[in-house]
Amino acid sequence: MSTSVPLVVRLLSSSVSVANRAGKIVRDVMSKGELGIIEKGKDDYQTEADRSAQRCIIASLSAQYPKLNIIGEEDSPDNEGEVPSDWIVLDSDKDILSLECPAALKSVKEEDIVVWVDPLDGTSEYTQGFLEHVTVLIGISVNEKPVAGVIHQPYYKNLIGEKKIGRTIWGLQEVGVGGYTPAPPPDSLVITTTRSHSNPVVEQALAVMNASQILRVGGAGYKVLQLLEGKASVYVFASSGCKKWDTCAPEAILNAAGGKLTDVLGNFYKYGASEPHPNKTGVLAAINDELHSYAVNKIPQELKETLSKK
Ligand code: AMP
Ligand code: MG
Ligand code: MG
Repeated sequence: MSTSVPLVVRLLSSSVSVANRAGKIVRDVMSKGELGIIEKGKDDYQTEADRSAQRCIIASLSAQYPKLNIIGEEDSPDNEGEVPSDWIVLDSDKDILSLECPAALKSVKEEDIVVWVDPLDGTSEYTQGFLEHVTVLIGISVNEKPVAGVIHQPYYKNLIGEKKIGRTIWGLQEVGVGGYTPAPPPDSLVITTTRSHSNPVVEQALAVMNASQILRVGGAGYKVLQLLEGKASVYVFASSGCKKWDTCAPEAILNAAGGKLTDVLGNFYKYGASEPHPNKTGVLAAINDELHSYAVNKIPQELKETLSKK
């Protein structure tokens, strides 16, 4: 009986189904070819896919969980008005529904939850055709902490011979992760970072890491996926450009996989509804504590102060 399943588990299972639908919207907008690009700010774009995917996610989750506080990246008059009925997804992922809810989350109520939604992470890459970098992020936070989340990759190519496109990675605190094959970090230090939002401070933080390789890819979701799959060791971004909807889902999944995501000073972000949206003091994430400590210790004090003051 779904009503006997604790709320956080039901919400995560709904989020998996909704993210899959949102991913199809992202692909459909691209195949139609009318992206409807709007410039929100410097190097900050929104497309029809960002707008429509957000409407699908918010309408679907709020239809089932009306008291949830859902904060989505996109803010547009288009977001009001009727949502097409085939965008409203009321299904849930059956495998997730059968997960055992951690004791600490069993009695969580809708009012205790803030859901952070990035309907399309990696918009610059989406408009430039780097489609593998694009993800849909739904992060579930309770008492300011990210406890569960999904990263959906609409353009992930499954094994040759399979027709299915896209995949959905999930994580739940104290339970674990799914939707991908975990792999240990590379033997040498591989850093993943922004490809479209660099600046001199971002580069300074990369230069001190002594990395054997620097991967420049789009999206916070995709970079955390690289950590989960052993393609990179640490995600370093010494800039205030990332927001809470970029990091909530990736942080929840990384935690569930034994990793850590903080600012560049090593402090955790809080995900309460009244928190400021920007992750002002940057992002530093790793698949384990040892790599995370290494990177925090490499960041010069002066750089930490520069970001704190901004
Ligand atoms: P990136 O690593 O550059 O792909 O950025 C990860 C996420 O943070 C994406 O959603 C970006 O849109 C956002 N972001 C990072 N830097 C900036 C910035 N300077 N202005 C606007 N958004 C940014
Ligand atoms: Mg984003
Ligand atoms: Mg976005």
